Amino acid sequence: MARVLVTGGGGYIGSHACKVLAAAGYEPVTFDNFGTGWRDAVRFGPVIEGDLRDRDAIEAALREVRPEAVLHFAARIEVGASVKDPAGYWANNFSSAQSLFDAMVATGTGKLVFSSTCAVNGDLDGVEIDETSPINPESPYGATKAAVELMLQGYVRAYGLQALTFRYFNVAGADPEAELGEQHQPETHLIPLVIQAIRRDRAALKVFGTDYPTRDGTCVRDYVHVRDLVAAHVAAIPYLDRPAAARVPLICLGTGRGMTVKEIIKAAEAITGAPVPHEMTDRRPGDPASLICGSALARQELNWEPVHSTPEQMIGDAWRWHQRPGYTC
Ligand code: UDP
Repeated sequence: MARVLVTGGGGYIGSHACKVLAAAGYEPVTFDNFGTGWRDAVRFGPVIEGDLRDRDAIEAALREVRPEAVLHFAARIEVGASVKDPAGYWANNFSSAQSLFDAMVATGTGKLVFSSTCAVNGDLDGVEIDETSPINPESPYGATKAAVELMLQGYVRAYGLQALTFRYFNVAGADPEAELGEQHQPETHLIPLVIQAIRRDRAALKVFGTDYPTRDGTCVRDYVHVRDLVAAHVAAIPYLDRPAAARVPLICLGTGRGMTVKEIIKAAEAITGAPVPHEMTDRRPGDPASLICGSALARQELNWEPVHSTPEQMIGDAWRWHQRPGYTC
């Protein structure tokens, strides 16, 4: 059985990827330091506990596992936290990536899928973002991801890594079978916060800004179901062997449709049948008004269709996961 090394396999997206990899016939091997990941989310293959900055540890893992590919999810992901702690972000996101890529080169591990973000583009003022959009990160988080993208270009040229970078938009939802879900500590993402507000797990949701130049004054985001997102990663593994892959270093993953914060609240109320306690507050620093993704390249190259990314399924799956017995936030 071909193995895939999943860095950050204990995290939100990494754990969902392990489930889909296992269903596709791969053995997912998680490499995680459990700084932000969850041990009980690693259920679909073995785990190696280690820190990517420990070059010996990741090299030993690659020699032992001999993976067909590496899916590199492990990273810190919060814009606000990165402004307060850029050193931590450069260490966790950039230094770790370099250590991983060096270990891949040293062990002859060829295929890599790297998780990047539309935060590398900064605020493009409502223009649809695609692979040709300029890079202009506005936070240390976006800067670390942009720097890794650039580093990777050089490693591909010089050392023959076969790599594909995905730029994510707003990943949302949970495993449709409610085995896995989204859980960050602290939680900062809209959909889990909406659900926790409905459940009265926390105080009312704060809507960050109502004076944006959008259809109802609140921010527009392109939400993609986590199951759709990880499906693109699994499709990328055989894709990297196709000659076409050499001319496509980067693919954006979004639906091309956006929802406002108020629309998410309304949809959540319709889906759960319960009100979302919320209050209107000031803008959160650094939030662009609108982020929408042009996804033509993903459809063309990977035959990718975001089939689960409706508000009903994203919010419904997240709701069912939060309603499972034993959930605590
Ligand atoms: N948001 C909000 N209240 C919250 C958290 C988020 O109004 O408590 C808004 C935020 O301003 C953004 C959208 O919801 O417009 C999505 O935010 P999230 O943090 O989920 O993802 P981001 O777009 O920052 O990656």
